[in-house]
Amino acid sequence: MGSTVSWCAPRGLYTDKRPDGLFWEPLDDWRHWSRAARSILNIIGELREGRLPKALDWQRVYSRSGSTHPAPWWRRDDGVDFERVKIADVVNEWLILGDVRPVLHWEDWQSKPSQVKMHQPGLYPAIAYQLTLSVSTRRVVAICSGCGFGYFPAKAPSPGQRKFCDDCRDRGVDKDLAMMEFRKRKRDASALFRQGVPSSKIAKKVGSRESTVRRWVQAWGGSLRFAKS
Ligand SMILES: [Zn+2]
Repeated sequence: MGSTVSWCAPRGLYTDKRPDGLFWEPLDDWRHWSRAARSILNIIGELREGRLPKALDWQRVYSRSGSTHPAPWWRRDDGVDFERVKIADVVNEWLILGDVRPVLHWEDWQSKPSQVKMHQPGLYPAIAYQLTLSVSTRRVVAICSGCGFGYFPAKAPSPGQRKFCDDCRDRGVDKDLAMMEFRKRKRDASALFRQGVPSSKIAKKVGSRESTVRRWVQAWGGSLRFAKS
């Protein structure tokens, strides 16, 4: 794996077109990558269980490294900790070779929220990305609505939903924020009510349910006729 660009550059850029006009790629390379990917998964599986991976798997992973010493060339009595670092290096190298990185993406020009997606221009990057996901048990990085830092949520939050890291939850930031927002909605609704805005419009403007706004309006002494308009 060590040398990067020399063998990597022609991938997907072959100029020897077949008669039907399609590009081709050597199956041999794909068999190599598929075997290596399989071995990476094997290695991670063993390391997760606290066992040393099979030497054959390391050999497959490093079979194109160009090293004169077959893998594993290191002292294996250093145990699983060292090999965990090693396999992380390997997976990170796959990500670099595959140019896997986040890119900013607009669904369309009308929509305000943009998305961050993974840049995977091809099969190899897709495999590299999937390998990385298979290594980490928590798959998504989310940005906490409380502190603004990235964290790993137990399950993927739905888009547009507020989410909080464990720290913020422990400190009750999620509940404080929810209460603050609730109070602000009610304050805004009250101001609109005093301007004579009907409850259906108030509900839309402040983002509360119409039934909730009606209850508020009644409590503020608004007539039902007015509240329903
Ligand atoms: Zn937080």
